[in-house]
Amino acid sequence: MKYTCPVCGYSKLTKPPEDYYICPCCGTEFENDDSEVSHAELRDSWLSAGAPWFSQATRPPPYWNPYVQLLRAGYGHKVKTQNTQSSTQELRLAAPVYRSGMTHVYVQSETSSNSRIEARV
Ligand SMILES: [Zn+2]
Repeated sequence: MKYTCPVCGYSKLTKPPEDYYICPCCGTEFENDDSEVSHAELRDSWLSAGAPWFSQATRPPPYWNPYVQLLRAGYGHKVKTQNTQSSTQELRLAAPVYRSGMTHVYVQSETSSNSRIEARV
């Protein structure tokens, strides 16, 4: 049984995201880090730090891409705090059309109200 991290979307957690289990991908310690901070806020922090792989003991999957991972988990459109209607739709379209060769980038706007993941061919 594999579980998906509610912060970063990593889908190979070996335990449920609770009980002080630490996500090897984003480093969230469940029921500690997320006791007073929302998963969306933790996700924003992780993305703002460049979405680094956390664990030294567990290696990232081959060809791991944090932005593709977020899109596949359905979190792409939740990255920004204030969605506009058009960019929300854009991201929902971006996830299903993902294919190898596409590059996904985290775009942080200067107003910070429109940060999002974009797919580029
Ligand atoms: Zn995680």
